[in-house]
Amino acid sequence: MKNIVVQKFGGTSVRNLECMRQVLNNVRRPLAAGDKVIVVLSAMAGETNRLLALAKEWSPAPDLAELDSLVSTGEQISVALFAMMAKDEGIKCRSVLGFQVPIISNSSYGKARIESIDSEKLVAMLEEYDVLVMAGFQGVDAFDRITTLGRGGSDTSAVAVAAALKAEVCEIYTDVPGVFTTDPNMCAEARKLDRISYDEMLEMASMGAKVLQIRSVEFAKKYNVTVHVRSTFSDEPGTIVTQEEAIMESVQVAGVAYDKDQAQVTVVGVLDEPGVCASIFTPIAERKILVDMIVQNPSREGRTDITFTVPKSDLADTLKLMEGLKPVIGYLALLSDKDVAKVSVIGVGMRNHSGVAAQAFRALRDENINILMISTSEIKLTCLIEDKYTELAVRTLHQSFVGQYQVG
Ligand code: ADP
Ligand code: ASP
Ligand code: MG
Repeated sequence: MKNIVVQKFGGTSVRNLECMRQVLNNVRRPLAAGDKVIVVLSAMAGETNRLLALAKEWSPAPDLAELDSLVSTGEQISVALFAMMAKDEGIKCRSVLGFQVPIISNSSYGKARIESIDSEKLVAMLEEYDVLVMAGFQGVDAFDRITTLGRGGSDTSAVAVAAALKAEVCEIYTDVPGVFTTDPNMCAEARKLDRISYDEMLEMASMGAKVLQIRSVEFAKKYNVTVHVRSTFSDEPGTIVTQEEAIMESVQVAGVAYDKDQAQVTVVGVLDEPGVCASIFTPIAERKILVDMIVQNPSREGRTDITFTVPKSDLADTLKLMEGLKPVIGYLALLSDKDVAKVSVIGVGMRNHSGVAAQAFRALRDENINILMISTSEIKLTCLIEDKYTELAVRTLHQSFVGQYQVG
């Protein structure tokens, strides 16, 4: 069998015929070298949002399985259009939907996880075709129902297929030339990184840098797939996401990320006794709501406050759960705030450098930005702030940490 190359193209790369022709140019490169290609496509830019809005018109809280059946059509359109165009150009190809591979997932509609991929079937199809045009974002569950993998899920489809086929590299083509020190569309000083470690990329993705879906990076790390993030519209090399190397340690911070999709909840005056946190967070976890930052204040007169963050779309649900808990844990008040954002500095080099937190706090102080919550990991520092200051905070942190280093 020939070498198999996996290439994924995002929504802006397939938004019209002209862009799809550009995609085809990128596909021709490995073909010319005699390789077989699996092209994973997203829906055309804006299509997934359009379908989600359409569903809301029909049903205020749509059935999640039907919603997946609807939003997955965006990718079906892309692959069919691309395959017909490529065929006209003389390329031996066909479109393949998630259920045709099949990409088997669990049944968490809207945020399904891939469980297995029939790589033998893909390899067999590649005997007959030079290019398989595969719909990203889609899977099928044990009940033969279509699932989707969460926003940005085509990245994960591509990396998972690359892992299943033991491809050495998975190329992720997008609208920026690689992974930058921060969002290049928000900060003009952002610099492209030549390399970033899986762990740094995981933190960047989980802190809001949507250039790669977090699950795609988890897959890449687990199966040791090198990911090459690059532009559809230029030939320049992009960013290699790979294992950590010693040289990365000399740079304290690899990047700055932000996430505006956060809401803060404070349960005021809960009794300071064993089991209270378990009572608060168990029902939230059962609803599969992702809690990010958690702070508990020292208690006074036997009572304490517990503050945490959840995605904005889960705030209403979370508040309902907390209201239901009032008779059980007897707190005094429930507060919430939607106008918050997380800003984070990330870097494996932070392990061996002290003073990162102090430097970040000074940078925010100099711009008069108040910090609402703080959380840290070995390679990350996150501050919750008022969301109107997000851009300013990103720029000042970037200037303070990345501005002074030659990165990449
Ligand atoms: P695609 O449709 O190709 O999947 P996405 O919109 O999902 O593209 O991701 C690319 C976008 O990610 C960029 O346009 C950029 O605004 C944003 N982004 C956020 N943080 C970063 C970062 N650190 N480096 C590069 N891009 C970033
Ligand atoms: N079309 C899906 C989305 O917009 C998946 C993807 O683009 O990766 O989230
Ligand atoms: Mg994306």
